[in-house]
Amino acid sequence: MDLSNSKKFGFSFSVKPLFWAILLISVFTMNVSAQVSTDLGIGVGSPDNDNVPRDPDQLIDNIWWVGHSKVGSFLITTPEGHFLMDATSTEEAHDVIENVVKAGFHLRDIKYLINTHAHAEHTGGLAGFKQLLPHAKVITTKETAEQLASGDADEMGNTKFEPVVVDGIIADNESLTLGGVTLVAHHTPGHAKGVTTWSMQVTDKGNVYDVVFMGGMGTPNDEGEPGLLNNELYPNIVSDFEKSFKTLRSLACDVFMTYRALSINLDTKVAMVKQGGNQVNPFVDPQSCKAYIDLYENRYLKQLAEERRAAGMN
Ligand SMILES: [Zn+2]
Repeated sequence: MDLSNSKKFGFSFSVKPLFWAILLISVFTMNVSAQVSTDLGIGVGSPDNDNVPRDPDQLIDNIWWVGHSKVGSFLITTPEGHFLMDATSTEEAHDVIENVVKAGFHLRDIKYLINTHAHAEHTGGLAGFKQLLPHAKVITTKETAEQLASGDADEMGNTKFEPVVVDGIIADNESLTLGGVTLVAHHTPGHAKGVTTWSMQVTDKGNVYDVVFMGGMGTPNDEGEPGLLNNELYPNIVSDFEKSFKTLRSLACDVFMTYRALSINLDTKVAMVKQGGNQVNPFVDPQSCKAYIDLYENRYLKQLAEERRAAGMN
């Protein structure tokens, strides 16, 4: 799994309705007047820090970070409603909900619940979101839909969450459009069977930029994880990774986004945005798109070579 200290699925079914009822009351009664983040740097800067609540920030154009200090959730706003990408974990989703409200938006305007992949730290909260926002449509890849329905993304062998039935399947290169904003789904499996990398365009200071939300490319290499060769939980993992790296390299990418705050240097860039005076928004960072792909492909190739050597295949 790609988040070693992620919290485990924790609410029993009997507790959850009460949890969400309290949450609803708290969200609709909280003070949402023009709250400005002064928490730059909290929990970020070291991979060892906990994933703690963090105020929302507008990153570029209509893209908001509404997730935590380490693990993200993105709100993509439009005049006709919003997309929410990644629900975070069961225990943490309420912070995302509060952040949407703190950012000045209405929960009822969330029209689409989309995700990067069905691992618990990104998906555990989805069942609660669906309960809270029954009008919002959960749209995923076929593979993610199957994992959500089973409540188990088994390629890592240990990620479980409350099952969710999706409202629609999105094929590779299909798109969702809302309020003039189009999000294109690119299937990039490997890290999970249904990983989706999303792309869209933003406008900043009169310039149009291509945005890529990388869906995750970490390999199963932690102790106890099944690895790349002879992975019985995910027999096609190697061919999927290879196809996905090619797909990622083919995408036009000016603005690099992903759900790891550290990967996108979230707090440094947010501080620069707030300071102002930038000729170009700091999230316009094509070098980091490439660096991300290079980093994960090199790790993948190194692991594959090591596993092949260990199996006497070289
Ligand atoms: Zn994952």
